[in-house]
Amino acid sequence: MWGDDEKKRPMNETVFPALDPAFVALLCCPNCPERPRLTLDETTNTLACPCCERRYPIIEGLPDLRADDNEQVAAAAADSEMKF
Ligand SMILES: [Zn+2]
Repeated sequence: MWGDDEKKRPMNETVFPALDPAFVALLCCPNCPERPRLTLDETTNTLACPCCERRYPIIEGLPDLRADDNEQVAAAAADSEMKF
């Protein structure tokens, strides 16, 4: 009985600190030539670009601005399939 509390403790208890708004204010969309500021969406934990509406996930407290790379690769792959 006395060991139950320890075992029931959730393992995903680690909470990463919220992004500093001052830090978020420095982030610009790498996808847009205008480099618009990204806005933090705390409900989905993403950074959103108001220009191209692309969303960048925040992984372990760090924004992943490389998200568009995967889409470009996928687009290129789809493009080559179309030509075939
Ligand atoms: Zn953008």
